[in-house]
Amino acid sequence: MRPGRNSNDLKMPAAAVNEGPMRDHYPLQGNAPQPAFKPFAAAARLKNFLAGYFAELNAAAQADRPRVAWCTSVGPVELLRSLGFLVYFPENHGALLGASRRAMDYIPTANAQGFSPEVCSYLTSDIGAFIRGETPLTRAYPDILAVPRPHVLVYSTNQCRDVLDWFGWYARRLQAPLLGVESFRQVEEVTSTHVAAMSRQLQALVPPLEAISGEKFDLDRLREVVALSRRGSELWGQVLKTAAHRPSPLTFFDAAIHMAPAVLARGTDAALDYYEELLEEVQGRIDQGVAAVDGERYRLYWEGMPIWGKLRDLAGFLASRQACVVASTYCNSWVFTALEPGDPFDSLARAATELFIVRSEAAKERYLVDMVQRFGIEGMVFHEAKTCPSNSNSRYGLPRRLAARLGLPTVVIHGDVNDLRLYSEEQTLTSLEALLEQMAMAPAR
Ligand code: SF4
Repeated sequence: MRPGRNSNDLKMPAAAVNEGPMRDHYPLQGNAPQPAFKPFAAAARLKNFLAGYFAELNAAAQADRPRVAWCTSVGPVELLRSLGFLVYFPENHGALLGASRRAMDYIPTANAQGFSPEVCSYLTSDIGAFIRGETPLTRAYPDILAVPRPHVLVYSTNQCRDVLDWFGWYARRLQAPLLGVESFRQVEEVTSTHVAAMSRQLQALVPPLEAISGEKFDLDRLREVVALSRRGSELWGQVLKTAAHRPSPLTFFDAAIHMAPAVLARGTDAALDYYEELLEEVQGRIDQGVAAVDGERYRLYWEGMPIWGKLRDLAGFLASRQACVVASTYCNSWVFTALEPGDPFDSLARAATELFIVRSEAAKERYLVDMVQRFGIEGMVFHEAKTCPSNSNSRYGLPRRLAARLGLPTVVIHGDVNDLRLYSEEQTLTSLEALLEQMAMAPAR
């Protein structure tokens, strides 16, 4: 929200807001070529981090030490690290398949195994690639011929049920143990009952994980990992918060790339080192008046999953129209402010249950209203991902409710995380153009 605006304005009905002064009405100018991304110097460090991360996993898989755990992206990573596991994330591999636009080559292979074309395309592309014995890691790192074999697979159903079926398939195929926690869903307020139940499940994982890792559980070590995770989360959150500045120094598309250490290196020094450097760089952009999108005129919010194979195209399209996606639910989902080293199990349980994806529609609506205020959002894009209903929040009227409550244009685009056969470029760009036209006509916020 721009300075000087009263937060109550946001609750005014659209009709009342529309009586305000009109924004300068200008044609959708731009269309001038702009780079999709303004590269960050930290990208070199990111490249090195990724190379080191995958090389370490590859070496461990070959030497059979340290043990390798596969984990869901918002699963109990800290517990695994405290027990000496290296952690690999199949969802990250799914995103790599999407970004490399190879997912469509592999999805039919998983379909032939009985997975419907309608289930998570991370799952189907990842399993299809595994069956075919291929991975995009080989192209980036020729020494890596396959994803690292797991000693254990650990899931949390806090994000969706698909991860359980996904990991279950690998557990059967590779004859590896499958452990996990069953999450609450549609949570309105996170209560001590939710926390206690999740915490007990996390604690119950310790004995079997000790047996697999061969290491004795050490509560102090878990506290250290949780402290690192909390600090890394805070730094990542600070990076994202800089986008509240006008003009924003980074876009959602930048953040989707630079969030890799927040996912892969949670609970390690590597994440801290990376986000300290990135934070300095984005703050430097603010100090020097460098905008992620030159001539920023429109500030957008992205709700839902990225369309990995179209990140660059969408970033370039919006930049050429002086539109900056300044914030997203997705990138903020790896900011875990509930973590407390002094109370590791309960705080891990709380962090896992406070997640947006776990919450009720009303809680999600409150969260999005808050984000609109914090980041001065003027329009919202809801991505309805065909194979990811759990993270598509346009299906039960939320965009309309927000539009009515905030007097804010919203648009729903139909696509998918990985399966580009479910995405229409023409429809999407037309919808985005219409959104920007509505924003151009809207009163200044
Ligand atoms: S949240 Fe969506 S994209 Fe992620 S694993 Fe579940 S279904 Fe797949």
